[in-house]
Amino acid sequence: RTCTHTLLFAQLITPDGTNHGLHGFLVPIRNPDTLETYPGLIVGDMGEKIGVNGIDNGFIMFNQYRIPRENLLNRTADVTEEGVYESSFSDPSKILGAALENLSAGRIGIMQESCHSIASAVAIAIRYAATRTQFGERDNEISLIEYELHQWRLFGYVAAAVVFRMYIENFSRVYLSIVEKSNAGMKVDNLSEAVSEIHAMVSCSKPLLTWTVLSAAQQCREACGGHGYLKSANLGDIRSNHEATVTYEGDNNVLSQQTGNWLLRQFHAARSGGAVDSPLNTVTFLMDWQRWLGAKFRCTKTDELKSREFITTTYRWLICYLLKQTHEKYESEIAKGLTKFEARAKSQVYKWRDLTKTYAEYLAIIFFLESLDKKEKSLQPVLTKLFSLYGLWSLDQHLVELYQGGYSQGESLARLLREAVLELCSELKGEVVGVVDALAPTDFVLNSVLGKSDGNLYQNIQKAFFSHPGAFERAPWWRDVVSLPRSKI
Ligand SMILES: Cc1cc2nc3c(=O)[nH]c(=O)nc-3n(C[C@H](O)[C@H](O)[C@H](O)COP(=O)(O)OP(=O)(O)OC[C@H]3O[C@@H](n4cnc5c(N)ncnc54)[C@H](O)[C@@H]3O)c2cc1C
Repeated sequence: RTCTHTLLFAQLITPDGTNHGLHGFLVPIRNPDTLETYPGLIVGDMGEKIGVNGIDNGFIMFNQYRIPRENLLNRTADVTEEGVYESSFSDPSKILGAALENLSAGRIGIMQESCHSIASAVAIAIRYAATRTQFGERDNEISLIEYELHQWRLFGYVAAAVVFRMYIENFSRVYLSIVEKSNAGMKVDNLSEAVSEIHAMVSCSKPLLTWTVLSAAQQCREACGGHGYLKSANLGDIRSNHEATVTYEGDNNVLSQQTGNWLLRQFHAARSGGAVDSPLNTVTFLMDWQRWLGAKFRCTKTDELKSREFITTTYRWLICYLLKQTHEKYESEIAKGLTKFEARAKSQVYKWRDLTKTYAEYLAIIFFLESLDKKEKSLQPVLTKLFSLYGLWSLDQHLVELYQGGYSQGESLARLLREAVLELCSELKGEVVGVVDALAPTDFVLNSVLGKSDGNLYQNIQKAFFSHPGAFERAPWWRDVVSLPRSKI
């Protein structure tokens, strides 16, 4: 309601009728002195949303509205006074990417915020699980955390919370150091390739984190039973306020397609014997894609699956396999006569989409491992267990591809992987409260009657019930109930 300018992405069409695609424009919409809308515009509020109403979202309709040529944000492309389009990119398909790459900072912010949301959600659910007793043999009720089912439902998310936190901290440092050097005019080796790689990383990691946190919030809500449904548990607000992140700053399903474009470009380069452009070293291994595809599952013990070698090797195999599958699917659609746009759309399901999710998980793993090696020795055992759990818990969702692509045959991969997950759950049971204590914000910020760090769950719930305004008040309409005519039956 107080907005005077908007940053607008719109198609740029030059006087010769050529459409140069999406570009950014700075558009004045209201007079800053009177807040009145300029002629040619209809501006208004979109109305109440299903969450995050602390920010208002508006609509704008344009009718023959003119802005000066200088209002084009022209770092990557400009239009001369004569109406001629000029771009620093020779390949027009990269111009949109360059414009979109500027949005990385906002998406990294969303990932940082997601790390806080999942930390809060698991802290509440784990503290509740440690103190809530339910069922048991011979009237001896036991804590929820003792149940393997409960551990399996929650501990994967605790592991994800830790892995994501360390991944995003490490990645943000790398990102900011590049931005800082670039803004200071210092030389950054392969800057444009690094920016493209960062854009690819962010475009799949924002979907991975926001989707995982959304399902974590829901699982944590359910893991606290009926108490989890209380407003004062705060799990409902954590979930609702987080939910829109899967859509804003780029809908997850659309955004992750950008990562696929970049990965397929690198795969194409590797296949044709060229160099892979990966200054951040996330896919340099593609140079050896045929060797990675030759890897086979040979483990016989669960401990071997828990190792970083098994988890990273398996992810590399998966990325190479899904790249090959996606590439072949896309090319087969082109061979049928489809346009590039149509072929891309026909290659999303089970291929492109799975590829980008797998790559995002791999990124979380390699950035986590890099940080792990720098942590205090005393923390490494528990962090290693959390890493193994996150890696295997995530790989469990890729068993179809691992079998389909011939990485493994027979039942041992699925059996050992799932046994390893359950062993890790059991091993982490005694440490998981300490882990969430390290992750959780203060009680004031956590703001949950179920998640207070004092562990006095039942007393805290009782206090909250008793202090709820009107908890013990007789309803003002009580007479209407007691004076109803009595039944004659
Ligand atoms: C709370 C909130 C705040 C927001 N704040 C801002 C803001 O401050 N500024 C701003 O500019 N925008 C804002 N947005 C808008 C937001 O960025 C867009 O809603 C988002 O980018 C998705 O675009 P869309 O709504 O046009 O969805 P669409 O693109 O219409 O997508 C609708 C559905 O279709 C699917 N779909 C679309 N294209 C394809 C495709 N090619 N292949 C397969 N599936 C496809 C999508 O996955 C999605 O599920 C906000 C949105 C929300 C919810």
